[in-house]
Amino acid sequence: MRLSRRHPRYASLRVRAALARASRAGLVVPEGLIAHGRGEMFDYLLGERTTPGARRAERWAAQWLRAARHPVVSINGNVAALAAPEIVRLAAARPGLAVEVNLFHRTPKRVRAVVAALRHAGLAEVRGKRPTARIPGLPSDRALVDREGIYRADVCVVPLEDGDRTEALRALGKRVISSDLNPLSRTSQRADLPIVDEVTRALDRLAESVTRDRTPLGSGDFHPVDRGALLAAALGTIGRNLTRRAEAARGRSRGRPARSARRPARGTPGRSRRTP
Ligand code: ATP
Repeated sequence: MRLSRRHPRYASLRVRAALARASRAGLVVPEGLIAHGRGEMFDYLLGERTTPGARRAERWAAQWLRAARHPVVSINGNVAALAAPEIVRLAAARPGLAVEVNLFHRTPKRVRAVVAALRHAGLAEVRGKRPTARIPGLPSDRALVDREGIYRADVCVVPLEDGDRTEALRALGKRVISSDLNPLSRTSQRADLPIVDEVTRALDRLAESVTRDRTPLGSGDFHPVDRGALLAAALGTIGRNLTRRAEAARGRSRGRPARSARRPARGTPGRSRRTP
């Protein structure tokens, strides 16, 4: 189907078409398409742009990525389909950043598809193809990790993650940076540093901030982060946006008679009827 650039939701439709293609190619699972819908809804409520709070989170995340001794970014099918070029930019900005494939619905074919998408975008090395360790306490295949990657990482970036794995990574003593548009998800609520922003925007800004930040690489000196303030800022933005829209809707109806007053009384002719 050809999409018109003049369609008011062209950008969103283009992303949907790309995800549908990635789903047909076996990179994204149907559950991933549903997760995308949930994300889109929150992006709508957030104004479809990076909020000041998210920008702050992205700057702090960049500082943590520089300070880390073993930073890792975890990649699932949606992230590979949506943000492979941004992952490559981030890996180029932070030497030593490991990129590891990690899938809930793991099959050899899907692992190959994720690796191929990242390689196609220009990434030289991808970890997690043949897992060598397990994260304790996780029953699903998401527990399978690379001993030299996620297993030994001190800082993990987990875009589009689920709450259980976020929790399990934290229980291993890792600092978890999430990228999730839903400030109410268990992931956002449990991550040490929640970035409430769309994943391509978040990774792009992260790469930019990593280049600008001056923290010595591997210093282990992490800027303290107020997770509650970041979540409150995102929820505040949603609240303000909804209030503004409600006021605008009220403004449009002002001056008009109330609905009940407009409805003609039973037995009286409506406006469309001709009066004699
Ligand atoms: P949790 O276990 O954290 O509560 P969940 O069940 O809400 O997770 P999942 O389906 O595991 O959700 O993960 C998808 C999450 O990713 C959703 O919270 C959704 O808002 C978010 N998401 C989807 N697409 C994007 C995107 N493009 N950018 C950022 N976040 C996204």
